[in-house]
Formats: sequence, structure tokens, C-alpha cells
Amino acid sequence: MSLVVLDNSEKTVRILGVDVNRLTMAETLARFDRFVESGEPHFVITADASGLAQAQHDPEHRALFARAALITPDSAGVLWAARRAGCPISERVSGVDLVEQVCARSVQTQHRIFFLGAAEGVADQAAERMRQRYPGCNIVGSRNGFFKPDEDMAVAAEIAQAKPDYLFVAMGIPRQEKFILATQSVIRAGIAIGIGGSFDVISGNVPRAPRVWQRLKMEWLWRLIQNPQKLPKVMWLPKFIWYVLRDKK
Ligand code: UDP
Repeated sequence: MSLVVLDNSEKTVRILGVDVNRLTMAETLARFDRFVESGEPHFVITADASGLAQAQHDPEHRALFARAALITPDSAGVLWAARRAGCPISERVSGVDLVEQVCARSVQTQHRIFFLGAAEGVADQAAERMRQRYPGCNIVGSRNGFFKPDEDMAVAAEIAQAKPDYLFVAMGIPRQEKFILATQSVIRAGIAIGIGGSFDVISGNVPRAPRVWQRLKMEWLWRLIQNPQKLPKVMWLPKFIWYVLRDKK
């Protein structure tokens, strides 16, 4: 099976060797409709500063980006790097927002959505929240994300039975991306997206940063104060800034 790759070079900006899409949320959702209608599986990455910085150290991780049909700008750091490259991006297209928008639209589109990832019960809670907020939204299944890579195909067979159009995978970078690519030919979701810790936020287990912190582009600092275990992830931010600054325009 062939993967569909980027077909919209005019709408991308190259950041640390990765072509990040500059589509707005509305344009991204319109593109998703086309992906679903095509009947072919598409792999989508939500790129944040830490993921892009980590990829500089891991060729296998870097190679994942080349296989994506779409790479969305997930963090303020990515928007900063795009501005610096002279190709500004008008808004973030984050995993949490994508889940919310796709669920809201599924009331009309009836696209089938599957939630995979996070600790036992969290994806179920996130699904319940979405059903309460968007009555009639079409979430067809959910499952925790704690299983070993050698169980990937068995989990994939389980998910395939739900015939999802959208598969949201919240298992952390790059585990979630590797899962998606390893199982894509079995699950065949029109769109499979890695969304990091999004179910923890959507379920209400981890509160989203207050708007003022988001506006100040300090969501990362707020998260760190809430959960000091995030320190290793946050430590990638200064590295990202350094890599972008030394990268030739
Ligand atoms: N997780 C999972 N399976 C694993 C490891 C982690 O489902 O084997 C979940 C974890 O519970 C959390 C998410 O993956 O909900 C990772 O969140 P984080 O914010 O660390 O993601 P990042 O975007 O930084 O990769």
C-alpha cells in the first residue's frame, strides 16, 4: 500500500528539516475531509518544539516526518520558528483542538472516531466528555495505551473492527507515530494522528493552562509547575530555540 505524501508545498514552512503545514484549523479540517473521502490511510503528525528538537538526535524519529501526509503546528515554539523563517503561521493546530473539532463535526459528518491511548479509563472518560459536549458525536470506541509493541498488531485488529475514519493515538512521541505506521495497513483509518497527552486534558484529569498563560506563550511553564515530571520534555525547548537560531534561513 502506498502512503499519500505532502501535496501542498506552497502551504508549508521548513523548520529543522521538517515541512510543517501552514494551514489554518478550518483548512486542516477541509483537508481531512478529502483524506477521509479518498478511502486511503493518511498519517498526520502534530509537531511541537520538543518533538522537532528530539528528532534532530534520532534518525528513526526524523524519518517519521517524511511519511506524514500533513504536519500541523502544535506549539507556540513552532509558530515562532515559522515567523523567523519568514513564513508566518496564522494559528496553532494542536492535538487537543483537533480532537474537539473533529468530534464536534462528526455530529453532522458521521465520521467514525476511535480514541487510543493514556492510562486505563482515561480515553473512555475523554470520549464521555466529548459525547456530553457534542451530543450525537460519533466516537465508536476507546482503549488505553499501555501495551507492549509486540501486542501492536493484536490491538490493531481490535480497532479495525470498529472501522474508524479517524484514529487519535495518545501514547507519547514517538511511540504513537511508530504504532500508527506499523498498523496502518490493518486499521486503514482515513486519518491517524498522534496527539501526545491530549486525552489527559480532554478527560479533565489534567487542566488546560488558563488563557492568560496560553496568550503569554507560557503554557509549557504552567504545565511544568503543575507536573515537575515534565522537566525532561521542557528541557528540549531551549535546545529547539538554539537549533532554530543556528539553522541557516
Ligand atoms: N502513554 C500511553 N502509553 C505508553 C506511554 C504513555 O498511552 O506506553 C500516554 C500517557 O499516559 C500520556 C501520553 O501517552 O497520556 C503522553 O503524554 P505526553 O504529554 O508526555 O506526550 P508528548 O506529547 O510529550 O509525547
